[in-house]
Amino acid sequence: MCSGRVDMEFVLRAFLNGIDGVFIGGCRLGECNYTTNGNYHALNMVMLLKRLLEHIGINPERLRIEFMSSADGILFAEVINEFIEKIRELGPLGIGDGFSEDGYRERLSDIIRLVPYIKIAKRDKLSIFLDDPEKYSELYSIEEIETLLKEVPTYYIDPSKCKACMVCLRKCPVDAISGGKNLIHIIDQERCIRCGTCFEACPPRFRAVKKLVREREGHFEGKNNQRRIINP
Ligand code: SF4
Ligand code: SF4
Repeated sequence: MCSGRVDMEFVLRAFLNGIDGVFIGGCRLGECNYTTNGNYHALNMVMLLKRLLEHIGINPERLRIEFMSSADGILFAEVINEFIEKIRELGPLGIGDGFSEDGYRERLSDIIRLVPYIKIAKRDKLSIFLDDPEKYSELYSIEEIETLLKEVPTYYIDPSKCKACMVCLRKCPVDAISGGKNLIHIIDQERCIRCGTCFEACPPRFRAVKKLVREREGHFEGKNNQRRIINP
């Protein structure tokens, strides 16, 4: 497939399944067959993923992207050998990153659950096209990722305000809202991808959908959790 089709979740799931290193190979930059520049999008996504991995304590060098053509057999072999050497040097995923056994898995699962939110929050940046590949390495900062993950929204429906108009239920992209005519609607938090559509869609005269922002001092540390309600 086109490297632009590689989803953030594919990479994170590979790590969650215990893969020590992930390599993505794309066509040479500037030589996209479909003029969609999918390889630049892949590079952009990899830079964001590297920051996310760094944030949760996994060495970002476990993820690598390189661009080459199908005629670059020798280059491919060299790059892969070099990558394998690097991964051997880093050691097994988790233990090699300073975790005890499976300690990294919970952090990865947490990030995977947040992928839709991250994509929505970073959609403008993720679609940026920069002609100089070097510039992508400066696109995301570790501080920016900390802020992004510090304030993850949760949406819920205030039963005292919901008028069961079904607008949010029809618009939810993942069918996370249950309800019906004359039934107060409820959001299934496990299914919700935190897109905020229901928050925007609930008619202003009802304002039944609430947005809660959890603020965490240290993400994934589960301490000092506080909640703040934001009205539409
Ligand atoms: S935030 Fe998005 S996914 Fe979650 S319930 Fe609302 S519309 Fe559905
Ligand atoms: S759009 Fe608002 S009022 Fe209508 S069902 Fe959803 S939460 Fe209730």
